[in-house]
Amino acid sequence: MQLAEFAAGIIHRFLYPPNIPVLLARGTSPGPTLLVTAGVHGDEYEGMRAIYDWFASLDPTQLSGNIIAIPVLHVAAFHAGARLSPLDGANLARVFPGNPDGSPTEVLAWHFEREILPLADAYIDLHSAGTSFVMPQLAGYDASDPASFALADAFGASVLWGHPVIAPGRTVSAAKSRRIPWIYTEMRGAGRVHPDDLAFLLRGLRNALRYLNILPGELERVPVEHHLFGDGNVDASITTTNRGFLVTDLAPLQEVRQGQLLGALTDLTGNLIESFHAPVSGVIALIHARPLVDSGEPLFLITQRKS
Ligand SMILES: [Zn+2]
Repeated sequence: MQLAEFAAGIIHRFLYPPNIPVLLARGTSPGPTLLVTAGVHGDEYEGMRAIYDWFASLDPTQLSGNIIAIPVLHVAAFHAGARLSPLDGANLARVFPGNPDGSPTEVLAWHFEREILPLADAYIDLHSAGTSFVMPQLAGYDASDPASFALADAFGASVLWGHPVIAPGRTVSAAKSRRIPWIYTEMRGAGRVHPDDLAFLLRGLRNALRYLNILPGELERVPVEHHLFGDGNVDASITTTNRGFLVTDLAPLQEVRQGQLLGALTDLTGNLIESFHAPVSGVIALIHARPLVDSGEPLFLITQRKS
């Protein structure tokens, strides 16, 4: 894709071959390009909604630079209402930089990484806790990159989460490899789109444009109430090898002590199958939201506060 092929001062809506929806706003003045994606996981709907709402409010003649937004990157997973691909079972956020000769999800990653990501001067990947989990509303950043922290700080989130290590395979690890500053968001999820999450995203995306000088105006600052630090790898969550009902009264951002009971898994008749205790002290960053749990699903993720 070549940005110069698109007329300035208007919004373009098109499908990137074969079926990925793209919104492109080309400003009438030159400037940087902000890339925003949602729907890397097909059951995370807040970012999808927010991108369309955001574009409805944009006037490209006010922009110095460009915005490329993909409301649903993993279209097959979206149509399946699922986090993972129905075509190959893959997680799009684990297969980057992709493979042109691989599975459908790997091919998708390959094309995005080669053809769209390099156009970005900054990248925001909109995730949420989706239909299976509950998480705090937050902006996550690369703690080894001051430009990533600066973008997260400007976005305006009351919860920031710095990651000292970025696991491979993510959209954001692909951006890091290309030296493109990035952040991502999480929102409460739990199977719904909350109006407060949409407001959070619209303010954050507007702030990002102002921070990048694509849009004139002052940042709308938000006090940081929780600054988390540590691994954000959901794959490293506390999990189970059993199937059953999860009973827990934890809430996101709750402090837990090492050894504290986090929850219990019971069978259909109420017999205890397994109890879960905190392996370390810290802050709850993710909780399984559906009462019925399958073997292998993440149940709890604990991280630390920034010291
Ligand atoms: Zn996600």
